[in-house]
Amino acid sequence: MDIYLHKNRFSREEMYELNRRRLESRGVTVEDIATIALKQQSKFTENVSFEICLDSAKKILSYPDAFHIVQLGIEIDELCEKGMLSYPLQEILKSDLGLFGIDELLGLELAGNFGIIGRTNFGDIDVNKPGIIGKLNDEGKLPGKCHTFLDDIVGALGACASTRVAQIYNEGK
Ligand code: MG
Repeated sequence: MDIYLHKNRFSREEMYELNRRRLESRGVTVEDIATIALKQQSKFTENVSFEICLDSAKKILSYPDAFHIVQLGIEIDELCEKGMLSYPLQEILKSDLGLFGIDELLGLELAGNFGIIGRTNFGDIDVNKPGIIGKLNDEGKLPGKCHTFLDDIVGALGACASTRVAQIYNEGK
């Protein structure tokens, strides 16, 4: 991280790299995000290429909106795990209170970069919790763990990648 110290503006490549590292530090790989996109688009299109899903996941991770939401959401989860938030937010986020909804709001906003379909795809992932999302959801319930923002953000990244893949396949028709 040293080479990026004292900067607040980043190139697409740097945003991708910072996001990739931050997500990996929380147990999420770019392949995990691509797998969400593959699983979702495979319902609509035969023989979806994993490479296109992976390429889409990488592109999404380099967008400024995704950069700021990934960095902020993970930061809040980590501060919560360290017990560093104030009452009542510390308790609300630690318990992943269903009524809170700001985590879903960030996810929905990020997915909204890909329009109505992006939001709908996010809703599907939020409800059905495919792959890494279910894992994050379960792990977040363990003592000392907080994935309140992470599961929604990764779900939204998956929804964006998935919608981009759908656009690529539709353009080819
Ligand atoms: Mg959540």
